[in-house]
This record gives sequence, C-alpha cells and structure tokens, in this order.
Amino acid sequence: MPHPKKKTTKAAKNQRRSHHALKEITLTKCEKCGKPVKPHHACASCGTYKKKEVINVLKKLPKKERLKIEKKKKKIEEKESKKKEN
Ligand SMILES: [Zn+2]
Repeated sequence: MPHPKKKTTKAAKNQRRSHHALKEITLTKCEKCGKPVKPHHACASCGTYKKKEVINVLKKLPKKERLKIEKKKKKIEEKESKKKEN
C-alpha cells in the first residue's frame, strides 16, 4: 500500500483547502421567457440560445403535458392573429 512519507501539517492542509470554497453562480435572464439562465447556456425552460430555438423542450415531456402546452400556444396564436385582423 502507498503510504505518505511525512505528516501533512495543519497549515499545509489549510493552505490547500483555501481554494475549495464554493463560488456563487452568476445567472442572467432569458431573453425569451425571462427565467434565470447560466451565461453561455441554452435556456432549460424554453430551449433558446441567442434568440434561436436550439432544444425542443416539449419533446422530453410526457404526451399529456405536451398536448396541453401546444393547445395553449395555439390559443395565444389565434388571439394574436385576430388582433392583427382588427
Ligand atoms: Zn427561456
């Protein structure tokens, strides 16, 4: 079995561990839905990155939830198209 040659002193141990503290993560707002997102990452809730849809978020959801969300989207689109007509 490998064995350390000398005891690690408290000072050496503490100096090594001085870099182990966790940093607070920085978050930015998603441009589309406004939810907090890590910088340089795609949004997990709407799947967009740099204003383009990169991930199809609906694909992973179970069918029932997917259909619900698609219905909501259709209703919103219909409302917007009616507004444009008026
Ligand atoms: Zn988003």
